[in-house]
Amino acid sequence: MFENLTQRLNQALKTLKGKGTITEINIATTVKEIRKALVEADVNYKIAKQITDQIKEEAIGRKVLIAVNPNELFVKIVYDKLVELMGSQRHDLNLKGDPAIIMIAGLNGAGKTTFAAKLAKLLKSQGRQVMLAACDVYRPAAVEQLKVLGEQIGVEVYAEPENTNPIAIATNAAQRAKAVGKKILILDTAGRLTLDQVLMQEIADLKKALQPSETLLVVDAMTGQDAVNAAVAFNQRIDYDGVVLTKLDGDARGGAALSIRAEVNKPIKFISTGEKMEALDYFYPDRMAQRILGMGDVLSLVERAQRAFDEEEARRLNQKIRKNQLDFNDFLSQLRQIKRMGNLKELISMIPGMSTFAKNLNIDDDAFKPIEAIILSMTPQERSKPELLQNPSRKKRIAAGSGTSVTEVNNLLKNFESMRNMMKKMNQLTPAQLQKMNKKRR
Ligand code: GDP
Repeated sequence: MFENLTQRLNQALKTLKGKGTITEINIATTVKEIRKALVEADVNYKIAKQITDQIKEEAIGRKVLIAVNPNELFVKIVYDKLVELMGSQRHDLNLKGDPAIIMIAGLNGAGKTTFAAKLAKLLKSQGRQVMLAACDVYRPAAVEQLKVLGEQIGVEVYAEPENTNPIAIATNAAQRAKAVGKKILILDTAGRLTLDQVLMQEIADLKKALQPSETLLVVDAMTGQDAVNAAVAFNQRIDYDGVVLTKLDGDARGGAALSIRAEVNKPIKFISTGEKMEALDYFYPDRMAQRILGMGDVLSLVERAQRAFDEEEARRLNQKIRKNQLDFNDFLSQLRQIKRMGNLKELISMIPGMSTFAKNLNIDDDAFKPIEAIILSMTPQERSKPELLQNPSRKKRIAAGSGTSVTEVNNLLKNFESMRNMMKKMNQLTPAQLQKMNKKRR
């Protein structure tokens, strides 16, 4: 996410790093570099100039020149400014009514339908009763897409394929939600390829008729300034409550994340970082500023892990590790849990200091595929009794079945064995020995 911006900002900040004394001249140079980095990231020039002028003023006012640690103080000023620019605090959804209605609007391809389903999944994971309604009456494919996603996440999708009146569909959906005890109804609405008055009118009418307690505008962050323009245009017509930025996993340059708040004075509420249903996070300006400055985002990573990992499963696994009974079924379930957390590169970039490293890392989500294929080619008996796999003809069969080679099967078995051995050793240690080991590592 925003690798170029992070790199450019770090370069700019490096100018100050290691300088014994900092002068007004090198502050001015650094600030100029920061402004260039922001403009290149597609932040409107006026906003970029305004905030860099403020950074400069503050740096000089707060006596960076004579501070004990001028570089740190300067980074802190830049960080604070970025947080402020993005709105300072997290904004929750407004959920009022029975059902509470959340309306999703945006241009075609922005990621509305995907987001509607992701949000339903997130709310469901919080124990809420959710229903989705397909109100795009122009694209039957969009209705179908929502139905498929709904099935995947186990959320009912209300649709009326023959009906061409979105207000009627939404009203019926709300009635149905109420009748079956669903507390939140998410409306996926129609988009257009460009900003279009007919569409705007339709969405404004829908909003007026349904009175959603929350209206969210979905914009594609990869489109930079265009996303900001869409945010401005929709704001004039539907006065939405919050923005959802999508596709931050792609080549998004950061301009939309940094300028939307300043341009429309509406908070960003969610960010989407992939096509998978889990790749959704609440938007925290402070965490985003940390990411932009390459400091990682451990808190979001932990939240994702908590959502993806099944506590019951973790407890069961712990027991098995203690008894040294780990088998390939466990291995497979762990692999799948990690995959559920989202894109690997994205996850690595959330670790502090790893964002630039992640950029050049050559891994993708297919990295686990051969391992998964090998395990899936094992019989249930082999999965639960890895010892059986010492038999060469079994190995040959598995390699053929998974489209891999015997060497790859051997490698997996070797790694699995050494993992089991390590766990066995850990199990034999006394708590005191474990503590000593941990201390040594630190
Ligand atoms: P809609 O036309 O606004 O409903 O957009 P869709 O939800 O159909 O999304 C358009 C395309 O973008 C689909 O292929 C989605 O899988 C993809 N997409 C949506 N959100 C994201 C995201 O955060 N990252 C990436 N890489 N793709 C996304």
